[in-house]
Amino acid sequence: MFIDSHCHIDFPELAGRLPAILQKMQDNQVSHALCVSVTMPEFPQVLALAETHPNIYASVGVHPDYEETVEPTVDELVALAQHPRVIAIGETGLDYYRLTGDLEWQRQRFRTHIRASRASGKPLIIHTRSAADDTLRIMHEEKAGTDQGGVAGVMHCFTESLAVAEAAMAMGFYISFSGIVTFKNAKELQAVARAVPLDRMLIETDSPYLAPVPMRGKTNEPGFVRHVCEFLADLKGVPLATLAHATSDNFRTLFGVPELAAAA
Ligand SMILES: [Zn+2]
Ligand SMILES: [Zn+2]
Repeated sequence: MFIDSHCHIDFPELAGRLPAILQKMQDNQVSHALCVSVTMPEFPQVLALAETHPNIYASVGVHPDYEETVEPTVDELVALAQHPRVIAIGETGLDYYRLTGDLEWQRQRFRTHIRASRASGKPLIIHTRSAADDTLRIMHEEKAGTDQGGVAGVMHCFTESLAVAEAAMAMGFYISFSGIVTFKNAKELQAVARAVPLDRMLIETDSPYLAPVPMRGKTNEPGFVRHVCEFLADLKGVPLATLAHATSDNFRTLFGVPELAAAA
């Protein structure tokens, strides 16, 4: 069984064909998926998916790429995170690639999410792009990691260096690999994945984007996380079942989800 630790099945590319997406998950033995929030106005749709499907979980948070959107407060995030189907805070973080200029608002928003994680006890889903130094600095300043009394979380869709992965792991964070690691030109990232231990690794699709090989070019969906897992098992020279078990166990440990009932 595989678990997709990060998807956006509420996005328009996927929301219209949910029954087919759930069926594909079942066909590919993808037992569960975490549907990740990107704005506050869209959170109710994400939560509704988790409330109506026992194998879909939700997170609450505001993505750093959305500048003109409702800014959450710590208290609001903490209150929404009390819902039993909400298992994480995010996605949050810094993105200096998609947006430029004065991004102090991004850093403030990131701090708000880390404070909400500490106050709610729910782990963080961190997005970082072209901003690794500031991301690690703010994680440290806000005591995001278990080494400083925080809850830690996951560095999602990881594309940074091994040094960044090691710094995050030292704070108790997990490293999640998406379809990007399967791309032919991703040699450096593949070397990072080889070095990240099994007990720190998660897998994700980040669908509808970044479909893994051999589905590249198609609209991504949670069922395709199986291909990410197959690639990583090959890369690390371990049986597929070993990597599937490890990443599923890590998901349950990090997000505090008990041994899961069979997918509906
Ligand atoms: Zn992201
Ligand atoms: Zn995402």
